[in-house]
Amino acid sequence: MSEIVNHYINGRIVESSSGRQGNVFNPATGEIVRQVAFANTAEVDAAVQAARGAFASWAATPPLSRARVMFRLKSLLEDNMDELAKVVTEEHGKTHVDAKGSITRGIEVIEFACGMPQLLKGEVTEDVGAGIDAYCIRQPLGVCVGITPFNFPAMVPLWMAPIAIAAGNTFILKPSEKDPSFSLRLAELFKEAGVPDGVFNVLQGDKDAVNGLLEHPDVAAVSFVGATPTAEYIYRTGCAHNKRVQALGGAKNHMVILPDADMDQASDAIMGAAYGSAGERCMAISVAVAVGDGVADQLIERLAPRVRALKVGPGTDPEVEMGPLVSKDHYDKVMGYIDAGVREGATLAVDGRDLSLQGYENGYFMGGSIFDNVKTDMSIYREEIFGPVLSVVRAPDYKAATKMVNEHEFGNGTAIFTRDGDAARHFANSVQIGMVGINVPIPVPMAFHSFGGWKRSLFGDHHMHGMEGVRFYTKMKAVTSRWPTGIRSGADFSIPTLG
Ligand code: NAD
Repeated sequence: MSEIVNHYINGRIVESSSGRQGNVFNPATGEIVRQVAFANTAEVDAAVQAARGAFASWAATPPLSRARVMFRLKSLLEDNMDELAKVVTEEHGKTHVDAKGSITRGIEVIEFACGMPQLLKGEVTEDVGAGIDAYCIRQPLGVCVGITPFNFPAMVPLWMAPIAIAAGNTFILKPSEKDPSFSLRLAELFKEAGVPDGVFNVLQGDKDAVNGLLEHPDVAAVSFVGATPTAEYIYRTGCAHNKRVQALGGAKNHMVILPDADMDQASDAIMGAAYGSAGERCMAISVAVAVGDGVADQLIERLAPRVRALKVGPGTDPEVEMGPLVSKDHYDKVMGYIDAGVREGATLAVDGRDLSLQGYENGYFMGGSIFDNVKTDMSIYREEIFGPVLSVVRAPDYKAATKMVNEHEFGNGTAIFTRDGDAARHFANSVQIGMVGINVPIPVPMAFHSFGGWKRSLFGDHHMHGMEGVRFYTKMKAVTSRWPTGIRSGADFSIPTLG
């Protein structure tokens, strides 16, 4: 019987007795490498009760002591980086160097969380009235849940847990069932760093586990990252059960290229942003909006030979630039979109469908594709493909290009490539998108800023990490106090004012 990825509750691995489990594949070989447990209601409750039981004493632990745990966690992740990246590559498929990069971006959130004593400092006003002082403090919420997608099994959980825990909450991670193993290594490292039992828990599972967490009365807050239909469902269901919810969804990120852009710089940018991690990034560039036919022609002339020459192979090979897609289902879905684009009349300038790798015939590999002459009513333009497929749309001018970006249902990221400062400034200030790059293709904010899209790329009010993360994982309390005692103003039956 193959290895089972189990839950981690109250400081130890807990074997599931639900009788339900899923297969975990190595996408480079198509082999089942292990199974993952699917939690039942009793296991959901066990995780919540462990987190609830640990909350009071963790919340009462001084912020500086909580921050010191984060310093240790950072060192442990760095010390184990190579092995952790291998875990990510084996189940997700991304290249080893890309896996390491994603862990580094997660470590940066831990570094931000190390500053929690400073971040939690409140506000004080002396003498709001005679002998009366007022102050505001931020306090933790209780049991917080993180539900995460397959494409960043390390980074996205690390967007959430370090800030939630450093702020004094306890946490339950429900990772993607496609690549669950990193979550258990993270749990072990949290423990080694000094987090008390019950503060960080992992619950494996599918939608039953998610529903159990969303409906559980002892869960205070839910952070979600995944596809838009799931995000909208999580947001509505979580809110209906009185939880604070932030739910980040899918994307269709446009890169607008103006005629004055440096075309070599723009095509370099597209190569990494469209085909890195096989396009399975929520900040991938999937649409290039070329302003003017000349720009489209120049771009395709530069991109086509490079896309045909992409080194596709297993993520363990250091020469490889693009690994496999995550699963057979996802591979079929991306293939289906390429077929649909051809049917709908787009020009398939580079066709990545016909790729077979010797020794990896059962892996989910696909070459890069480029569609030209894509129109805004085509499914390959409207929907998120989440694969190595770039759509080039030709726009007559800047106004038409930005209208396209603004009218798309998703609003995660966008970029403009130009040498015109006026145009760049106008774009950044007026575009209806949450994260904007100017001559930067994947404008992922650093840990001390916040990450989040607009429109149907985010449900809820708070973005992730940075100060938005601190605000999400804490609630504000305002205290008004009168010292010294003995000051009397008599009984007053009207609202207090400073007369
Ligand atoms: P997904 O929505 O299928 O799954 C995400 C999580 O939700 C998983 O843990 C899964 O078990 C759970 N889930 C799935 N279906 C569910 C259901 N019906 N009910 C309850 N829970 C359910 O997403 P995915 O395929 O793992 O990830 C890819 C998607 O994530 C893409 O759309 C991508 O754009 C998006 N994403 C967004 C961001 C962002 O920051 N906006 C970041 C990374 C990924």
